[in-house]
Amino acid sequence: MENIAEIGIIGGSGFYSFLENMKEMKVETPYGAPSDLVATGEIEGRKVAFLPRHGKLHTLPPHMINYRANIWALNSLGVKRIIAPCAVGALQSRYKIGDLVICDQFVDRTRGRKDTYYDGPRAVHVSSADMFCSHMMQLTYDRAKEMDLQIHRGGTAVIIQGPRFSSKAESRWFTSMGWDVVNMTAYPECILAAELALCYMNISLITDYDAGLIGAEGVQPVSAAEVIRAFGKGVDNMKKLIKTVIPLIGKKRTCKCPHSLDEAVVS
Ligand SMILES: [Zn+2]
Repeated sequence: MENIAEIGIIGGSGFYSFLENMKEMKVETPYGAPSDLVATGEIEGRKVAFLPRHGKLHTLPPHMINYRANIWALNSLGVKRIIAPCAVGALQSRYKIGDLVICDQFVDRTRGRKDTYYDGPRAVHVSSADMFCSHMMQLTYDRAKEMDLQIHRGGTAVIIQGPRFSSKAESRWFTSMGWDVVNMTAYPECILAAELALCYMNISLITDYDAGLIGAEGVQPVSAAEVIRAFGKGVDNMKKLIKTVIPLIGKKRTCKCPHSLDEAVVS
């Protein structure tokens, strides 16, 4: 199954319509079943696999997703690059609803999630210092600028365990630390990709302001109608952006992602 796809997307169900000649396949992994069938097909001549993160019918809450199976399933089809769009709350008032943020750092506030493929006997310690793919991030940022989209290069995503949202106190703490957005799924997806030496890129869509920012200085109150409009536009922008970036991704990997295990194996 190694050559079925080269690029993987893990995201919401809006991506099915992207794929030409779409087929769906059941993929087994040593870690159990992924979130759903994997859809495969082509985008502008590139072989792409798509996996709905929460399942096709959105039945898996963030803390119940089998992240190891999802990344493993894509990799088993030949995927070397993963594009991971997700919805986030803003922790800083400079963001507007509908803006896109390419996050390049994370703070893990999850607990109990299975976040490694290396449970022994081999000791493998992958660096997470700079583990998001520089090639895909640069390409995507440049393309978004050409398309005149509201996009922010770099950002720190706090990943909370969920399913509850943050308290005001937690949210204010995240904001005061200078962290940018909050979400429930980007970890351990990103680190599992690094453990398999894959390229991984996050694209975050701001869907609301987090609890601690509501009513804070500089944050304009927004009506429900405005939120829905900005969110809809943001989703469209994100999909358009990903579709135009895919054919631009280099066929050979020149980034450092393929080397993430080079110095990680201790024994
Ligand atoms: Zn890379």
